Amino acid sequence: MLLQGKTALITGATRGIGKGIARRFAAEGAHIAFTYASSDAAAETLCQELSNEFGVKVKAWKSDAANFKSAETLANEVIAEFGKVDILINNAGITRDNLLMRMTEEQWDEVININLKSAFNLTKAFLRHFLGNRAGSIINMSSVVGVDGNAGQANYAASKAGLIGFSKSVAQELGSRNIRCNVVAPGFIETEMTEKLDQQVKQSWIDDIPLKRGGTPEDVANVCVFLASDLSSYVTGQTISVCGGMLMK
Ligand code: NAP
Repeated sequence: MLLQGKTALITGATRGIGKGIARRFAAEGAHIAFTYASSDAAAETLCQELSNEFGVKVKAWKSDAANFKSAETLANEVIAEFGKVDILINNAGITRDNLLMRMTEEQWDEVININLKSAFNLTKAFLRHFLGNRAGSIINMSSVVGVDGNAGQANYAASKAGLIGFSKSVAQELGSRNIRCNVVAPGFIETEMTEKLDQQVKQSWIDDIPLKRGGTPEDVANVCVFLASDLSSYVTGQTISVCGGMLMK
């Protein structure tokens, strides 16, 4: 029970990696606040699942991570409901892939706002609370694409690279207050986000991965447990790839 008595806010937890983190954290005894964009039924089901299976407190908020004011309202409501928050996971993210020649301003803005501005919004919203507690673990969900770039994903790669620079800066600014900020960079993880990719593309990635398989949400969640728990109390400003060895530099 590595997270017993702690409360985590996870953005975008109705499916995929966020849901995997919520389940894994609840299994470690954490109370779970989570957000989503539109999947009301999936949110309700996850609340029931986690409280029935693990006996932890769970509550969901429909809240757009890209909206600064909504993030402030969310933080106030989550703190009022749970008393304290120890862990913030900025996981919500989208893709709007296109070659730069064809990429629209909307595709650029949407990805930057939901993937990158969201981390600014939520971190700002919880900052005072973490400072007051003189504790906090912030985990930002980047991607191997943020480290290496990827043709057809200039918007996504920029947002994910931005998260790394943001997190290192937060780690430097807030380390003296015992607030840690780290990045997880998943490789190819099998979720709805990657379901829409061409089967041949997926197979060629798998062939190039030293561990010869796509990752699971639980593979990512396990690293998040480490970064959220006191096991990583001397780890901040780091980017940990969870990619089966896809990135080795
Ligand atoms: P996913 O299956 O598409 O799930 C995305 C989640 O984010 C959903 O819960 C969705 O809610 C929520 N969401 C979307 N827009 C939102 C918004 N504006 N405000 C709040 N919540 C929002 O994605 P995933 O594959 O699990 O990816 C999770 C994170 O990992 C993303 O940041 C992604 O970039 C990153 N990542 C994924 C992979 C991969 O291979 N899957 C690899 C590297 C990095 P609704 O259900 O309501 O739409």
